[in-house]
Amino acid sequence: MAKDWLEGVDGAYDAVVIGSGLGGLTSANVLGKMGHRVLLLEHHYQFGGLATWFKRPRRHIFDISLHGFPVGMIKSCRKYWTKEIADSIVQLQSIRFINPQFDIDTTFDRKDFTRLFIEDFKVPREKVEGFFEHLRQMNYYDRDNRTTKEMFEEFFPGRNDVHRLLMEPIAYANGSTWNDPAITYGIVFSNFMSKGVYIYQGGTDQLVSRMTDELQKNGVEIRRNCLVEKVYTEDDPLTGKKRITGIRANGRGGESRDIACKAVISNANIKNTIFELAGRDAFQPDYLAEADAVRVNTSSCQVYLGIKQGETIPNIGDLVFTSEAKEFSSEEVTSFNTTSRTFSVYYPETRPQNATKRYAIVASLNAQWKDWQDLSDADYEAAKKRITTQAVDGLEKFIPDIRQKIDWEEAATPRTVNHYTRHFDGTSFGTKFEGLKVSMELPEQVSGLYHAGSVGIIMSGWLGTINYGVIVASKADSFLAAAKRGEVPQDASSAK
Ligand SMILES: Cc1cc2nc3c(=O)[nH]c(=O)nc-3n(C[C@H](O)[C@H](O)[C@H](O)COP(=O)(O)OP(=O)(O)OC[C@H]3O[C@@H](n4cnc5c(N)ncnc54)[C@H](O)[C@@H]3O)c2cc1C
Repeated sequence: MAKDWLEGVDGAYDAVVIGSGLGGLTSANVLGKMGHRVLLLEHHYQFGGLATWFKRPRRHIFDISLHGFPVGMIKSCRKYWTKEIADSIVQLQSIRFINPQFDIDTTFDRKDFTRLFIEDFKVPREKVEGFFEHLRQMNYYDRDNRTTKEMFEEFFPGRNDVHRLLMEPIAYANGSTWNDPAITYGIVFSNFMSKGVYIYQGGTDQLVSRMTDELQKNGVEIRRNCLVEKVYTEDDPLTGKKRITGIRANGRGGESRDIACKAVISNANIKNTIFELAGRDAFQPDYLAEADAVRVNTSSCQVYLGIKQGETIPNIGDLVFTSEAKEFSSEEVTSFNTTSRTFSVYYPETRPQNATKRYAIVASLNAQWKDWQDLSDADYEAAKKRITTQAVDGLEKFIPDIRQKIDWEEAATPRTVNHYTRHFDGTSFGTKFEGLKVSMELPEQVSGLYHAGSVGIIMSGWLGTINYGVIVASKADSFLAAAKRGEVPQDASSAK
Protein backbone atom coordinates (compact mmCIF):
# COMPACT_ATOMS: atom_id res chain seq x y z
CA MET A 1 0.00 0.00 0.00
CA ALA A 2 1.35 3.46 -0.95
CA LYS A 3 2.47 5.86 1.77
CA ASP A 4 -0.26 8.22 2.94
CA TRP A 5 1.36 11.64 3.08
CA LEU A 6 -1.54 12.89 5.22
CA GLU A 7 -0.82 10.40 7.99
CA GLY A 8 -0.80 12.03 11.42
CA VAL A 9 -2.56 15.20 10.25
CA ASP A 10 -5.28 16.39 12.65
CA GLY A 11 -8.97 16.51 11.83
CA ALA A 12 -9.28 20.28 12.29
CA TYR A 13 -7.16 23.44 11.92
CA ASP A 14 -7.76 27.17 12.09
CA ALA A 15 -6.52 27.57 8.52
CA VAL A 16 -5.53 25.37 5.60
CA VAL A 17 -3.17 26.81 3.00
CA ILE A 18 -3.47 25.18 -0.42
CA GLY A 19 -0.15 25.23 -2.24
CA SER A 20 3.43 26.07 -1.33
CA GLY A 21 4.38 28.76 -3.82
CA LEU A 22 6.07 31.78 -2.25
CA GLY A 23 2.63 33.33 -1.62
CA GLY A 24 1.32 30.22 0.14
CA LEU A 25 4.49 29.65 2.15
CA THR A 26 4.53 33.27 3.30
CA SER A 27 0.84 33.33 4.28
CA ALA A 28 1.32 30.11 6.25
CA ASN A 29 4.40 31.47 8.00
CA VAL A 30 2.73 34.75 8.97
CA LEU A 31 -0.37 32.96 10.29
CA GLY A 32 1.77 30.42 12.16
CA LYS A 33 3.73 33.23 13.82
CA MET A 34 0.45 34.83 14.86
CA GLY A 35 -0.41 31.70 16.79
CA HIS A 36 -2.98 30.11 14.48
CA ARG A 37 -3.03 26.36 13.86
CA VAL A 38 -2.11 26.05 10.21
CA LEU A 39 -1.88 23.12 7.80
CA LEU A 40 -0.16 23.68 4.43
CA LEU A 41 -0.80 21.12 1.68
CA GLU A 42 1.21 20.90 -1.55
CA HIS A 43 0.40 18.45 -4.32
CA HIS A 44 3.90 18.42 -5.83
CA TYR A 45 6.70 16.28 -4.34
CA GLN A 46 8.59 19.38 -3.31
CA PHE A 47 7.70 22.74 -1.79
CA GLY A 48 8.23 26.12 -3.47
CA GLY A 49 5.74 26.16 -6.37
CA LEU A 50 7.41 27.90 -9.30
CA ALA A 51 10.29 28.86 -7.01
CA THR A 52 11.69 25.43 -7.67
CA TRP A 53 14.67 23.46 -8.94
CA PHE A 54 15.49 20.00 -10.17
CA LYS A 55 18.49 17.70 -10.16
CA ARG A 56 19.84 15.52 -12.92
CA PRO A 57 22.58 12.88 -13.20
CA ARG A 58 26.22 14.02 -12.95
CA ARG A 59 25.25 16.46 -10.18
CA HIS A 60 23.43 18.95 -12.37
CA ILE A 61 21.01 21.27 -10.63
CA PHE A 62 18.73 23.74 -12.40
CA ASP A 63 16.73 26.65 -10.98
CA ILE A 64 13.42 27.48 -12.65
CA SER A 65 12.61 31.04 -11.59
CA LEU A 66 15.80 32.31 -9.98
CA HIS A 67 16.64 34.98 -12.55
CA GLY A 68 16.14 38.26 -10.79
CA PHE A 69 13.90 40.26 -8.48
CA PRO A 70 13.88 43.80 -7.05
CA VAL A 71 15.80 44.90 -3.94
CA GLY A 72 12.54 44.97 -1.95
CA MET A 73 12.97 41.22 -1.44
CA ILE A 74 15.65 41.90 1.17
CA LYS A 75 13.24 43.84 3.39
CA SER A 76 10.35 41.43 2.86
CA CYS A 77 12.49 38.38 3.62
CA ARG A 78 13.97 39.98 6.72
CA LYS A 79 10.56 41.01 8.03
CA TYR A 80 8.49 37.95 7.15
CA TRP A 81 11.14 35.20 6.95
CA THR A 82 14.60 35.30 8.49
CA LYS A 83 17.70 37.48 8.57
CA GLU A 84 19.69 34.54 7.22
CA ILE A 85 17.50 34.44 4.09
CA ALA A 86 17.62 38.22 3.65
CA ASP A 87 21.41 38.24 4.04
CA SER A 88 21.79 35.76 1.16
CA ILE A 89 20.28 38.14 -1.39
CA VAL A 90 22.90 39.63 -3.72
CA GLN A 91 22.88 42.01 -6.66
CA LEU A 92 23.51 40.89 -10.24
CA GLN A 93 26.19 43.01 -11.87
CA SER A 94 25.74 42.54 -15.57
CA ILE A 95 22.40 42.64 -17.42
CA ARG A 96 22.94 42.58 -21.17
CA PHE A 97 20.65 43.30 -24.11
CA ILE A 98 21.74 42.13 -27.53
CA ASN A 99 19.41 42.60 -30.48
CA PRO A 100 19.44 44.25 -33.94
CA GLN A 101 18.69 47.63 -32.33
CA PHE A 102 21.29 47.79 -29.55
CA ASP A 103 23.98 45.96 -27.58
CA ILE A 104 24.31 47.17 -23.99
CA ASP A 105 25.51 46.04 -20.60
CA THR A 106 23.86 47.62 -17.54
CA THR A 107 23.31 47.28 -13.81
CA PHE A 108 19.62 47.94 -14.57
CA ASP A 109 19.03 50.77 -12.14
CA ARG A 110 17.81 54.32 -12.53
CA LYS A 111 21.27 55.87 -12.52
CA ASP A 112 22.64 53.61 -15.22
CA PHE A 113 19.45 53.74 -17.30
CA THR A 114 19.53 57.54 -17.22
CA ARG A 115 23.11 57.42 -18.50
CA LEU A 116 22.17 54.96 -21.26
CA PHE A 117 19.15 56.96 -22.37
CA ILE A 118 21.16 60.16 -22.62
CA GLU A 119 24.47 58.86 -24.00
CA ASP A 120 23.46 55.88 -26.15
CA PHE A 121 19.86 56.63 -27.06
CA LYS A 122 20.28 60.44 -27.27
CA VAL A 123 17.12 61.18 -25.30
CA PRO A 124 17.15 64.63 -23.62
CA ARG A 125 17.81 64.45 -19.86
CA GLU A 126 14.56 66.25 -18.96
CA LYS A 127 12.52 63.64 -20.88
CA VAL A 128 14.25 60.81 -19.02
CA GLU A 129 13.88 62.49 -15.62
CA GLY A 130 10.23 63.30 -16.42
CA PHE A 131 9.55 59.65 -17.25
CA PHE A 132 11.08 58.34 -14.04
CA GLU A 133 9.28 60.97 -11.97
CA HIS A 134 5.99 60.06 -13.64
CA LEU A 135 6.49 56.37 -12.84
CA ARG A 136 7.36 57.15 -9.25
CA GLN A 137 4.09 58.96 -8.75
CA MET A 138 1.88 56.29 -10.33
CA ASN A 139 -0.55 54.79 -7.85
CA TYR A 140 -2.68 51.66 -7.91
CA TYR A 141 -5.77 53.75 -7.03
CA ASP A 142 -5.31 56.20 -9.94
CA ARG A 143 -7.99 55.85 -12.55
CA ASP A 144 -5.49 55.70 -15.38
CA ASN A 145 -6.77 53.84 -18.43
CA ARG A 146 -3.67 54.22 -20.60
CA THR A 147 -1.86 51.18 -21.86
CA THR A 148 1.87 50.82 -21.37
CA LYS A 149 2.38 51.41 -25.10
CA GLU A 150 0.41 54.66 -24.94
CA MET A 151 2.52 55.83 -22.01
CA PHE A 152 5.74 55.00 -23.91
CA GLU A 153 4.47 56.94 -26.94
CA GLU A 154 3.67 59.92 -24.74
CA PHE A 155 7.22 60.13 -23.40
CA PHE A 156 9.26 58.67 -26.26
CA PRO A 157 7.15 59.03 -29.44
CA GLY A 158 8.17 56.72 -32.31
CA ARG A 159 11.20 55.41 -30.42
CA ASN A 160 10.76 51.66 -30.78
CA ASP A 161 14.33 51.14 -29.57
CA VAL A 162 13.58 52.92 -26.28
CA HIS A 163 10.26 51.09 -25.96
CA ARG A 164 12.13 47.81 -26.46
CA LEU A 165 14.65 48.52 -23.73
CA LEU A 166 11.82 49.43 -21.36
CA MET A 167 9.46 46.59 -22.21
CA GLU A 168 11.58 43.54 -23.02
CA PRO A 169 12.86 42.80 -19.50
CA ILE A 170 9.43 43.31 -17.93
CA ALA A 171 7.82 41.02 -20.54
CA TYR A 172 10.12 38.26 -19.27
CA ALA A 173 9.71 39.23 -15.62
CA ASN A 174 5.94 38.94 -15.52
CA GLY A 175 4.57 38.11 -18.96
CA SER A 176 3.04 41.54 -19.40
CA THR A 177 2.60 43.14 -22.80
CA TRP A 178 2.50 46.76 -23.84
CA ASN A 179 -1.29 46.47 -24.11
CA ASP A 180 -1.51 45.93 -20.34
CA PRO A 181 -2.35 48.93 -18.11
CA ALA A 182 0.48 51.44 -17.70
CA ILE A 183 0.06 51.24 -13.91
CA THR A 184 1.17 47.59 -13.84
CA TYR A 185 4.28 48.47 -15.81
CA GLY A 186 5.01 51.54 -13.70
CA ILE A 187 4.91 49.68 -10.39
CA VAL A 188 7.01 46.71 -11.50
CA PHE A 189 9.59 48.71 -13.47
CA SER A 190 10.03 51.24 -10.66
CA ASN A 191 10.65 48.39 -8.20
CA PHE A 192 13.54 47.17 -10.35
CA MET A 193 14.87 50.64 -11.15
CA SER A 194 15.28 51.55 -7.49
CA LYS A 195 18.47 49.52 -7.07
CA GLY A 196 18.85 46.95 -9.85
CA VAL A 197 18.31 43.20 -10.02
CA TYR A 198 18.97 40.72 -7.20
CA ILE A 199 19.02 36.96 -6.72
CA TYR A 200 19.17 34.55 -3.81
CA GLN A 201 22.72 33.24 -3.45
CA GLY A 202 22.64 29.61 -2.37
CA GLY A 203 20.08 28.40 -4.91
CA THR A 204 16.33 27.86 -4.73
CA ASP A 205 16.79 24.51 -2.97
CA GLN A 206 18.55 26.21 -0.06
CA LEU A 207 16.01 29.05 0.08
CA VAL A 208 13.01 26.71 0.22
CA SER A 209 14.72 24.46 2.75
CA ARG A 210 15.31 27.48 5.00
CA MET A 211 11.68 28.51 4.56
CA THR A 212 10.31 25.10 5.47
CA ASP A 213 12.57 24.99 8.55
CA GLU A 214 11.13 28.33 9.61
CA LEU A 215 7.55 27.18 9.03
CA GLN A 216 8.11 24.17 11.24
CA LYS A 217 9.69 26.37 13.88
CA ASN A 218 6.53 28.48 13.82
CA GLY A 219 4.36 25.42 14.33
CA VAL A 220 2.96 25.09 10.79
CA GLU A 221 2.15 21.54 9.71
CA ILE A 222 3.48 21.17 6.16
CA ARG A 223 2.78 18.25 3.87
CA ARG A 224 3.81 17.59 0.27
CA ASN A 225 2.34 15.04 -2.16
CA CYS A 226 -1.09 16.12 -0.88
CA LEU A 227 -3.61 17.34 -3.42
CA VAL A 228 -6.52 19.43 -2.19
CA GLU A 229 -9.49 18.24 -4.22
CA LYS A 230 -12.30 20.32 -2.80
CA VAL A 231 -12.99 23.33 -0.60
CA TYR A 232 -16.17 22.81 1.42
CA THR A 233 -18.60 25.65 2.11
CA GLU A 234 -22.01 25.91 3.77
CA ASP A 235 -24.69 28.57 4.14
CA ASP A 236 -23.94 30.93 6.99
CA PRO A 237 -27.19 31.94 8.78
CA LEU A 238 -25.42 34.94 10.36
CA THR A 239 -24.52 36.61 7.06
CA GLY A 240 -26.73 34.92 4.50
CA LYS A 241 -23.58 34.03 2.54
CA LYS A 242 -21.42 30.95 2.29
CA ARG A 243 -18.68 30.18 4.77
CA ILE A 244 -15.75 27.79 4.84
CA THR A 245 -16.12 24.49 6.67
CA GLY A 246 -13.10 22.50 5.49
CA ILE A 247 -11.32 20.81 2.63
CA ARG A 248 -10.90 17.36 1.09
CA ALA A 249 -7.36 16.22 0.39
CA ASN A 250 -5.61 13.18 -0.96
CA GLY A 251 -2.17 12.13 0.28
CA ARG A 252 -1.67 9.46 -2.43
CA GLY A 253 -2.27 6.71 0.11
CA GLY A 254 -5.74 5.73 -1.07
CA GLU A 255 -8.93 7.34 0.26
CA SER A 256 -9.22 11.13 0.40
CA ARG A 257 -9.75 12.77 3.80
CA ASP A 258 -11.89 15.63 5.04
CA ILE A 259 -10.20 18.19 7.27
CA ALA A 260 -12.22 20.89 9.04
CA CYS A 261 -11.04 24.52 9.13
CA LYS A 262 -12.40 28.04 9.53
CA ALA A 263 -10.27 29.64 6.82
CA VAL A 264 -8.71 28.53 3.56
CA ILE A 265 -5.91 30.46 1.86
CA SER A 266 -5.58 29.22 -1.68
CA ASN A 267 -2.27 29.62 -3.47
CA ALA A 268 -3.70 27.84 -6.52
CA ASN A 269 -4.52 30.04 -9.50
CA ILE A 270 -7.56 32.22 -8.79
CA LYS A 271 -9.57 30.53 -11.57
CA ASN A 272 -8.74 27.04 -10.26
CA THR A 273 -9.71 28.26 -6.77
CA ILE A 274 -13.13 29.55 -7.81
CA PHE A 275 -14.20 27.10 -10.49
CA GLU A 276 -12.56 23.84 -9.42
CA LEU A 277 -11.87 23.97 -5.68
CA ALA A 278 -14.83 25.93 -4.27
CA GLY A 279 -17.12 25.41 -7.27
CA ARG A 280 -19.51 27.84 -8.99
CA ASP A 281 -22.33 27.19 -6.49
CA ALA A 282 -20.44 29.02 -3.76
CA PHE A 283 -20.54 32.39 -5.57
CA GLN A 284 -22.95 35.15 -6.60
CA PRO A 285 -23.69 35.46 -10.35
CA ASP A 286 -22.13 38.95 -10.74
CA TYR A 287 -18.91 37.80 -9.17
CA LEU A 288 -18.83 34.65 -11.31
CA ALA A 289 -19.21 36.80 -14.43
CA GLU A 290 -16.20 38.87 -13.34
CA ALA A 291 -14.19 35.75 -12.55
CA ASP A 292 -15.07 34.22 -15.93
CA ALA A 293 -13.76 37.35 -17.62
CA VAL A 294 -10.36 37.24 -15.89
CA ARG A 295 -7.60 36.56 -18.43
CA VAL A 296 -4.65 34.46 -17.33
CA ASN A 297 -1.16 35.57 -18.19
CA THR A 298 1.15 33.85 -20.64
CA SER A 299 3.34 30.86 -19.93
CA SER A 300 7.00 29.95 -20.48
CA CYS A 301 9.39 27.58 -22.16
CA GLN A 302 12.85 26.95 -20.77
CA VAL A 303 15.94 25.15 -21.98
CA TYR A 304 18.28 23.82 -19.28
CA LEU A 305 21.90 23.37 -20.28
CA GLY A 306 24.28 21.61 -17.87
CA ILE A 307 28.02 22.20 -18.18
CA LYS A 308 30.34 19.21 -17.66
CA GLN A 309 32.05 18.93 -14.32
CA GLY A 310 35.56 20.42 -14.54
CA GLU A 311 34.65 22.69 -17.51
CA THR A 312 34.48 26.47 -17.15
CA ILE A 313 32.80 29.15 -19.22
CA PRO A 314 33.75 32.81 -19.52
CA ASN A 315 31.69 35.52 -17.83
CA ILE A 316 29.18 36.64 -20.49
CA GLY A 317 26.92 38.50 -18.05
CA ASP A 318 24.34 37.29 -15.53
CA LEU A 319 21.19 37.87 -17.54
CA VAL A 320 21.51 38.12 -21.31
CA PHE A 321 18.40 39.27 -23.18
CA THR A 322 18.80 38.29 -26.83
CA SER A 323 16.58 38.59 -29.87
CA GLU A 324 16.88 38.46 -33.62
CA ALA A 325 13.62 40.37 -34.13
CA LYS A 326 14.25 43.68 -35.92
CA GLU A 327 11.90 45.46 -33.57
CA PHE A 328 10.33 44.40 -30.29
CA SER A 329 6.69 43.43 -30.25
CA SER A 330 4.68 41.71 -27.53
CA GLU A 331 3.37 39.31 -30.21
CA GLU A 332 6.83 38.25 -31.36
CA VAL A 333 8.12 37.68 -27.86
CA THR A 334 5.30 35.22 -27.03
CA SER A 335 5.03 33.55 -30.45
CA PHE A 336 5.70 29.84 -31.03
CA ASN A 337 8.70 30.63 -33.22
CA THR A 338 10.05 33.56 -31.26
CA THR A 339 13.73 34.39 -31.69
CA SER A 340 13.75 36.18 -28.33
CA ARG A 341 15.22 34.38 -25.33
CA THR A 342 16.98 35.31 -22.12
CA PHE A 343 20.00 33.40 -20.90
CA SER A 344 20.47 33.19 -17.15
CA VAL A 345 24.00 32.13 -16.42
CA TYR A 346 24.64 30.35 -13.13
CA TYR A 347 28.32 30.63 -12.22
CA PRO A 348 29.79 28.71 -9.25
CA GLU A 349 28.99 31.76 -7.05
CA THR A 350 25.28 30.88 -7.31
CA ARG A 351 25.91 28.02 -4.88
CA PRO A 352 29.08 28.96 -3.00
CA GLN A 353 28.33 26.23 -0.43
CA ASN A 354 29.07 23.50 -3.02
CA ALA A 355 32.50 21.89 -2.93
CA THR A 356 32.71 21.53 -6.72
CA LYS A 357 32.47 24.55 -8.99
CA ARG A 358 29.61 24.05 -11.43
CA TYR A 359 28.04 26.13 -14.19
CA ALA A 360 24.57 25.95 -15.71
CA ILE A 361 22.70 28.05 -18.25
CA VAL A 362 18.94 28.39 -18.52
CA ALA A 363 17.30 29.95 -21.57
CA SER A 364 13.83 31.36 -20.86
CA LEU A 365 11.22 32.11 -23.53
CA ASN A 366 7.73 33.46 -23.16
CA ALA A 367 5.12 31.13 -24.61
CA GLN A 368 1.39 30.62 -25.03
CA TRP A 369 -0.61 27.62 -23.83
CA LYS A 370 -2.62 27.52 -27.07
CA ASP A 371 0.51 26.82 -29.15
CA TRP A 372 1.61 23.85 -27.04
CA GLN A 373 -1.61 22.42 -25.62
CA ASP A 374 -2.72 20.22 -28.54
CA LEU A 375 0.57 19.12 -30.10
CA SER A 376 0.80 15.40 -30.84
CA ASP A 377 3.53 13.51 -28.98
CA ALA A 378 5.79 13.60 -32.05
CA ASP A 379 5.21 17.33 -32.70
CA TYR A 380 5.73 18.09 -29.02
CA GLU A 381 9.08 16.31 -28.94
CA ALA A 382 10.12 18.00 -32.19
CA ALA A 383 9.18 21.44 -30.84
CA LYS A 384 11.17 20.83 -27.65
CA LYS A 385 14.14 19.70 -29.74
CA ARG A 386 13.84 22.84 -31.89
CA ILE A 387 13.89 25.28 -28.96
CA THR A 388 16.82 23.40 -27.43
CA THR A 389 18.87 23.52 -30.65
CA GLN A 390 18.05 27.19 -31.16
CA ALA A 391 19.08 28.03 -27.59
CA VAL A 392 22.46 26.31 -28.04
CA ASP A 393 22.91 28.00 -31.45
CA GLY A 394 22.20 31.34 -29.80
CA LEU A 395 24.70 30.66 -27.05
CA GLU A 396 27.41 29.72 -29.54
CA LYS A 397 27.58 33.38 -30.54
CA PHE A 398 28.92 34.19 -27.07
CA ILE A 399 30.78 30.97 -26.26
CA PRO A 400 31.86 29.36 -29.56
CA ASP A 401 32.88 26.00 -28.02
CA ILE A 402 29.78 25.70 -25.83
CA ARG A 403 28.54 22.50 -27.53
CA GLN A 404 31.54 20.50 -26.33
CA LYS A 405 31.01 21.76 -22.78
CA ILE A 406 27.34 20.83 -22.41
CA ASP A 407 26.48 17.37 -21.14
CA TRP A 408 22.82 17.87 -20.21
CA GLU A 409 20.05 19.37 -22.35
CA GLU A 410 16.38 19.46 -21.46
CA ALA A 411 13.37 21.62 -22.29
CA ALA A 412 10.23 22.62 -20.37
CA THR A 413 7.06 24.06 -21.90
CA PRO A 414 3.69 25.47 -20.82
CA ARG A 415 2.58 21.86 -20.38
CA THR A 416 5.35 21.34 -17.85
CA VAL A 417 4.19 24.38 -15.86
CA ASN A 418 0.63 23.08 -15.92
CA HIS A 419 1.72 19.58 -14.87
CA TYR A 420 3.65 20.71 -11.81
CA THR A 421 1.49 23.60 -10.60
CA ARG A 422 -1.95 22.68 -12.06
CA HIS A 423 -2.29 26.36 -13.05
CA PHE A 424 -5.04 27.17 -15.49
CA ASP A 425 -3.59 27.28 -19.05
CA GLY A 426 -0.11 26.69 -17.59
CA THR A 427 0.20 30.34 -16.65
CA SER A 428 3.60 31.30 -15.28
CA PHE A 429 2.58 34.71 -14.04
CA GLY A 430 -0.99 34.47 -12.68
CA THR A 431 -3.56 36.75 -14.25
CA LYS A 432 -3.93 40.06 -16.00
CA PHE A 433 -4.82 43.19 -14.01
CA GLU A 434 -8.54 42.42 -13.53
CA GLY A 435 -7.65 39.27 -11.55
CA LEU A 436 -6.52 41.32 -8.57
CA LYS A 437 -10.01 42.65 -7.80
CA VAL A 438 -11.54 39.17 -8.09
CA SER A 439 -8.84 37.76 -5.81
CA MET A 440 -9.29 40.50 -3.20
CA GLU A 441 -13.09 40.17 -3.17
CA LEU A 442 -13.07 36.41 -2.63
CA PRO A 443 -13.74 36.59 1.15
CA GLU A 444 -16.73 38.87 0.52
CA GLN A 445 -18.27 35.94 -1.37
CA VAL A 446 -17.33 33.10 0.96
CA SER A 447 -16.34 34.12 4.44
CA GLY A 448 -13.02 32.60 5.38
CA LEU A 449 -11.89 31.98 1.78
CA TYR A 450 -8.78 33.86 0.64
CA HIS A 451 -6.49 33.77 -2.37
CA ALA A 452 -2.76 34.45 -2.10
CA GLY A 453 -1.04 33.79 -5.39
CA SER A 454 0.24 35.53 -8.52
CA VAL A 455 -2.47 37.85 -9.66
CA GLY A 456 -3.01 41.16 -11.43
CA ILE A 457 0.59 41.40 -12.74
CA ILE A 458 1.52 43.56 -9.72
CA MET A 459 1.17 40.73 -7.19
CA SER A 460 3.36 38.43 -9.22
CA GLY A 461 7.01 37.42 -9.24
CA TRP A 462 8.89 36.47 -6.09
CA LEU A 463 8.50 39.85 -4.42
CA GLY A 464 4.89 40.45 -5.46
CA THR A 465 3.69 37.05 -4.27
CA ILE A 466 5.54 37.25 -0.96
CA ASN A 467 4.07 40.68 -0.27
CA TYR A 468 0.59 39.60 -1.35
CA GLY A 469 0.91 36.54 0.92
CA VAL A 470 1.53 38.90 3.84
CA ILE A 471 -1.46 41.15 3.00
CA VAL A 472 -3.79 38.17 2.69
CA ALA A 473 -2.49 36.52 5.88
CA SER A 474 -3.18 39.69 7.78
CA LYS A 475 -6.80 39.70 6.54
CA ALA A 476 -7.18 36.01 7.41
CA ASP A 477 -5.71 36.73 10.86
CA SER A 478 -8.36 39.41 11.55
CA PHE A 479 -11.04 37.01 10.38
CA LEU A 480 -9.81 34.17 12.59
CA ALA A 481 -9.39 36.45 15.58
CA ALA A 482 -12.98 37.72 15.18
CA ALA A 483 -14.25 34.16 14.80
CA LYS A 484 -12.43 33.16 17.99
CA ARG A 485 -14.14 36.06 19.81
CA GLY A 486 -17.47 34.84 18.44
CA GLU A 487 -18.01 37.97 16.31
CA VAL A 488 -19.27 38.11 12.72
CA PRO A 489 -16.07 38.54 10.69
CA GLN A 490 -15.92 41.82 8.78
CA ASP A 491 -15.22 40.37 5.33
CA ALA A 492 -18.43 38.37 5.52
CA SER A 493 -20.65 41.10 6.96
CA SER A 494 -19.53 43.59 4.31
CA ALA A 495 -20.57 41.28 1.47
CA LYS A 496 -23.22 42.56 -0.88
C1 LIG B 1 10.04 30.21 -16.07
C2 LIG B 1 9.72 31.21 -15.01
C3 LIG B 1 10.66 32.15 -14.65
C4 LIG B 1 10.38 33.07 -13.65
N1 LIG B 1 11.35 33.95 -13.28
C5 LIG B 1 11.13 34.80 -12.26
C6 LIG B 1 12.14 35.68 -11.79
O1 LIG B 1 13.27 35.65 -12.26
N2 LIG B 1 11.85 36.53 -10.79
C7 LIG B 1 10.64 36.57 -10.20
O2 LIG B 1 10.44 37.37 -9.30
N3 LIG B 1 9.65 35.74 -10.61
C8 LIG B 1 9.87 34.86 -11.62
N4 LIG B 1 8.89 34.01 -12.04
C9 LIG B 1 7.57 34.11 -11.41
C10 LIG B 1 7.57 33.55 -9.99
O3 LIG B 1 8.24 32.31 -9.98
C11 LIG B 1 6.14 33.36 -9.55
O4 LIG B 1 5.44 34.58 -9.72
C12 LIG B 1 6.02 32.96 -8.09
O5 LIG B 1 6.98 32.02 -7.72
C13 LIG B 1 4.64 32.43 -7.93
O6 LIG B 1 4.33 32.20 -6.60
P1 LIG B 1 2.83 31.87 -6.17
O7 LIG B 1 2.76 32.09 -4.72
O8 LIG B 1 1.86 32.60 -7.03
O9 LIG B 1 2.61 30.33 -6.41
P2 LIG B 1 3.14 29.23 -7.41
O10 LIG B 1 4.61 29.23 -7.44
O11 LIG B 1 2.42 29.35 -8.69
O12 LIG B 1 2.70 27.92 -6.65
C14 LIG B 1 1.39 27.51 -6.43
C15 LIG B 1 1.47 26.18 -5.73
O13 LIG B 1 0.17 25.70 -5.45
C16 LIG B 1 0.18 24.30 -5.66
N5 LIG B 1 -1.19 23.84 -5.87
C17 LIG B 1 -2.05 24.25 -6.83
N6 LIG B 1 -3.21 23.62 -6.71
C18 LIG B 1 -3.11 22.79 -5.65
C19 LIG B 1 -4.00 21.88 -5.02
N7 LIG B 1 -5.25 21.70 -5.45
N8 LIG B 1 -3.55 21.17 -3.94
C20 LIG B 1 -2.28 21.33 -3.47
N9 LIG B 1 -1.41 22.19 -4.05
C21 LIG B 1 -1.82 22.91 -5.11
C22 LIG B 1 1.06 24.11 -6.86
O14 LIG B 1 1.53 22.79 -6.98
C23 LIG B 1 2.16 25.11 -6.56
O15 LIG B 1 3.20 24.53 -5.82
C24 LIG B 1 9.13 33.07 -13.02
C25 LIG B 1 8.18 32.10 -13.37
C26 LIG B 1 8.48 31.17 -14.35
C27 LIG B 1 7.48 30.13 -14.71
